[in-house]
Amino acid sequence: MAAYEIRVIGDPVLKQQAAEVTDIDAKLVRLVDDMVQTMYDAPGLGLAAPQVGVQKQLFVWDLGDGTGPHAMINPQIAESAGEWVYEEGCLSVPGLSWEIVRPKDVHVVGRDLDGNEVSYEATELAGRMFQHELDHLAGILLVERLDEDQARQARRQVRDLMLGFSEDPPPKRGLLLR
Ligand code: ZN
Repeated sequence: MAAYEIRVIGDPVLKQQAAEVTDIDAKLVRLVDDMVQTMYDAPGLGLAAPQVGVQKQLFVWDLGDGTGPHAMINPQIAESAGEWVYEEGCLSVPGLSWEIVRPKDVHVVGRDLDGNEVSYEATELAGRMFQHELDHLAGILLVERLDEDQARQARRQVRDLMLGFSEDPPPKRGLLLR
């Protein structure tokens, strides 16, 4: 398995809507293997295909609960409920994280690599991971989920990231999402 370079904010691929997966072939399975490797190398809890430059509705995840890694294609949020604040980061916005409010519980449906329908009821961290990865497939980065104050403060940091101005490597933070 080979690792990809993770695309960083400013790369246009991160702002595009990903296309539905129509064929589950050997090439897609290899892509998934390489995305899983890239996710573990990062390390992150999840990784969406656009983050490795592939415009497909596909993401992988492993929450470290012993059941992973997993992959889902063509996912959709069927239902969401509640509200939960969590400090969220993104491998495509390295070194930065913000407390972001999103629904606490989500019901996500999609397909696995055998083409079978899958359905997950997820809460808190797992629910957050799904919402974050689905945002990637819609071309949305977490900086678009910030409130006004956060966005104002983040502007310079994000601009520096986008222009590659960061002179020092970003500080390592605690448990962050992909
Ligand atoms: Zn992300």
